[in-house]
Amino acid sequence: MKKINLIGSTGSIGIQTLDVIRSHPEKFKLEALSFGRNFEEGIQQIEEFKPALISVSSDDIAGKVKKEMTYTAPVLYGQEGLVEAAVYGDADLLVNAVMGRIGLEPTLKAIEAGKNIAIANKETLVTAGHIVTEMSRKHGVKLIPVDSEHSAIDQCLHGDSEKEVSKLILTASGGSFRDLSRKELENVTVKDALKHPNWNMGAKITIDSATMMNKGLEVIEAKWLFNMPYEKIDVLLHKESIIHSMVEYIDGSILAHLGTPDMRVPIQYALSEPDRLDLKGGDRLKLWEVGALHFEKMDYDRFRCLKMAFEAGRAGGTAPAVLNAANEVAVSLFLEGKISFLEIETFVEKALDSHTPISNPSLEEVLSADKAARSSVLTYLN
Ligand code: NDP
Ligand code: MG
Repeated sequence: MKKINLIGSTGSIGIQTLDVIRSHPEKFKLEALSFGRNFEEGIQQIEEFKPALISVSSDDIAGKVKKEMTYTAPVLYGQEGLVEAAVYGDADLLVNAVMGRIGLEPTLKAIEAGKNIAIANKETLVTAGHIVTEMSRKHGVKLIPVDSEHSAIDQCLHGDSEKEVSKLILTASGGSFRDLSRKELENVTVKDALKHPNWNMGAKITIDSATMMNKGLEVIEAKWLFNMPYEKIDVLLHKESIIHSMVEYIDGSILAHLGTPDMRVPIQYALSEPDRLDLKGGDRLKLWEVGALHFEKMDYDRFRCLKMAFEAGRAGGTAPAVLNAANEVAVSLFLEGKISFLEIETFVEKALDSHTPISNPSLEEVLSADKAARSSVLTYLN
């Protein structure tokens, strides 16, 4: 029986993680659960799974939960509560499914507590990949990818060394606006951007997919998870999202991972690896129905966020933290209707241009670069 702490339980990944836990009660047990403000979803989860510790984003939600729940367990709140839920008890695994940089501290604390980390929260690895990977090595814990591309690569690689690999090839669907020109992107709305052609995900990552920043964050995530130089990471446009990613070896062989676009597959594998379990209720891939798979070379001028992410990754140090922080703020401004779609990339670009990266930064330096980038993006509004 694997004991699991889950943070971000009410989000797209969180809900699907609980679905996997629910369908294998003999394998997995939920120990601690954390969510933000979605009380309706959260209270149902609490009543169903009866976790031994609960954390929410604020005092008022914590009060509502305590009043409504029908058994006794501590209900914490805020950043402190989020960390407590991540490190709780003798859980074997933390599933980090929160959105954004707030996932960094719980990840680091859970590593210190000796827990393996199933990491969906890519912003954490982008912000402080060097610290997270070094700490996981030091404490002997595994960082298990949840993102479908990284899960695919992990399964193709099965431990092959960097020397044998010539390229990691991340596939990209292209997001909601893949068929629009840059000119046509000028007036797109939030509603249009939230319609992803293949995947059903949280709002922020859906916008990131439309700007292609998501793929950029994934490039940086891949660098840290697989310890690969950027020269060995490539992105390929693949509209069907059937091949989740590939590894090309030095002898020219390419191994690919195929499947339906169903996040429960990589989530379940992250929970069960190296074993595989039945996927209950999942559609099987019917290649004869798909018929054909298509690929295009990535156009880095069309998708400037991807180019910026490669540049920030190569610059290293605090640059990826600034890229991520500026993007988090710009995307929320777009979702609030305060800036246009193309302003997301101009705001991120401005933040990166005005930042001088510090190399090999400490956690404090990373967090202060993150904070400064968040405030400077807000000043671009006027
Ligand atoms: P969602 O926005 O759907 O969910 C985010 C979760 O984090 C919610 O449970 C939310 O709670 C919680 N949360 C937000 N702020 C706080 C806070 N201050 N304290 C505690 N909890 C908080 O995001 P997704 O599930 O789409 O994505 C999560 C992560 O996984 C992201 O990093 C994303 O990039 C990555 N990912 C997602 C994929 C997907 O298919 N969705 C695919 C691959 C990676 P509440 O809603 O209750 O406020
Ligand atoms: Mg992905």
